[in-house]
Amino acid sequence: MKETNLIRRRNMLKGAAAATTVSVMGCASQLTTSSRPRVVVVGGGWGGLGAVRTLAAGGKVDVTLIEPNDGFMSCPLSILYITGYAQASDFQRSYRAIDALGVRRVKDRVVDIDRAGRKVKTATQDIPYDFLVLATGLEYMEEALPGYAAARDQFPVGFRAFEQAAVQRQVAAFVEQGGNFVITVPKPPYRCPPAPYERACMIAHRMKEKGTRGKLIVVDANKHPMPPPLAKPLETAMREMYGSQIEYITEADPKSIDAGRKVLSTSKGDIPFSQANVILPMRAPGLIRKAGLGERFAAVELPTFQSKADRNIFVIGDSQSSPLPKSGHLAFGTGQQVGEQILATIAGKYKEAGLGDEVTLPAAICWGKVSTSLAININVTSSISIGDPPKIRFQVDPAANAASSKGAMDWGRNMWNAMLG
Ligand SMILES: Cc1cc2nc3c(=O)[nH]c(=O)nc-3n(C[C@H](O)[C@H](O)[C@H](O)COP(=O)(O)OP(=O)(O)OC[C@H]3O[C@@H](n4cnc5c(N)ncnc54)[C@H](O)[C@@H]3O)c2cc1C
Repeated sequence: MKETNLIRRRNMLKGAAAATTVSVMGCASQLTTSSRPRVVVVGGGWGGLGAVRTLAAGGKVDVTLIEPNDGFMSCPLSILYITGYAQASDFQRSYRAIDALGVRRVKDRVVDIDRAGRKVKTATQDIPYDFLVLATGLEYMEEALPGYAAARDQFPVGFRAFEQAAVQRQVAAFVEQGGNFVITVPKPPYRCPPAPYERACMIAHRMKEKGTRGKLIVVDANKHPMPPPLAKPLETAMREMYGSQIEYITEADPKSIDAGRKVLSTSKGDIPFSQANVILPMRAPGLIRKAGLGERFAAVELPTFQSKADRNIFVIGDSQSSPLPKSGHLAFGTGQQVGEQILATIAGKYKEAGLGDEVTLPAAICWGKVSTSLAININVTSSISIGDPPKIRFQVDPAANAASSKGAMDWGRNMWNAMLG
């Protein structure tokens, strides 16, 4: 079994090198403006920026970044904006630093991938590639909750960049007027598992500060807060710090939402609300499925993050289906790793891991702010022995603490600088 996987992986990597040679050799006839290998990165979030910076620093390839937004906004730590403790601009950066690297930036959305022709398509142009890096994040599975799609504007999820403003308005209205604020938590896999509980704690913190008369009802499809290693400190924070504000309902599956009556129906009964922050189940954007790269998420080989369906495509960040956490830190590190792999492959210097080698995978770090001065930290490291599933290790704060609250802000500033400084 181990050998079969190894052989398959070896062939795939050899294929990648061969494909590069073919595409590089074929460039003369395919390219009109450049004879250098073309790498196209789709998505200018955490993963895409790691790849773009590494590829551009190599100076050996033509790098194109395709991203519809004008700039970047961080989901990590933006809870401080959502709950009124910071400005949106504190979590936003322009792409100026990327433009200065000589990267061709296309402000557009990819609507299709022509794998046979090795080009991506936007509404207005076809962009050819030798290697494609997909870092498109995720989309919400709206069909999972009947009643949601017809009223999505009333129920912003706020788990993608620039959606935070709508949730910030919901929270501001609730803190002022009181009532029932419902937050739903889906079963994993979803982006940043501690984030819904962070959101609940920080809204409760604001309620306490402002004397809001109301309840924050967390409707969790899981038995305990996610991820399991953080269950205890998160549950303790919700119970001990915010027992009067938060009602925590576990193993409750949302069945439907009625925007007119303002009722969420769940497997544990109907819950009336004044505001609802419905955190839906998530999957990779439709582009990935349409291109035949996977079902819910893109299937990739580890440790290379190369698509199982297409050796010229790498899928990184939250769009891929490995059991590693859906974390920005990990997405950025994976982008760097994949950028280096592509440069090494093009230079004919890519060295694959041998049988029995233990390969370190990119690390993840997540922060759960539970008040303005306390946070809980989880560090995730992992490695893989070729042919085996990855071994994942967790290091967790036993309780919310001030050092992790400061660490979170320092980490954020360092990451944003590494991406766009
Ligand atoms: C509330 C919250 C708190 C979090 N806290 C942490 C934390 O403490 N630590 C941590 O490491 N992570 C945290 N995360 C997770 C982190 O934000 C994600 O894991 C990270 O954003 C994933 O990076 P990505 O590149 O896969 O996707 P994204 O960063 O979402 O980037 C995807 C990009 O692709 C673009 N795109 C999508 N489709 C297309 C298309 N068709 N064509 C062109 N462009 C496209 C989008 O516009 C977007 O810019 C948190 C997330 C949330 C929601």
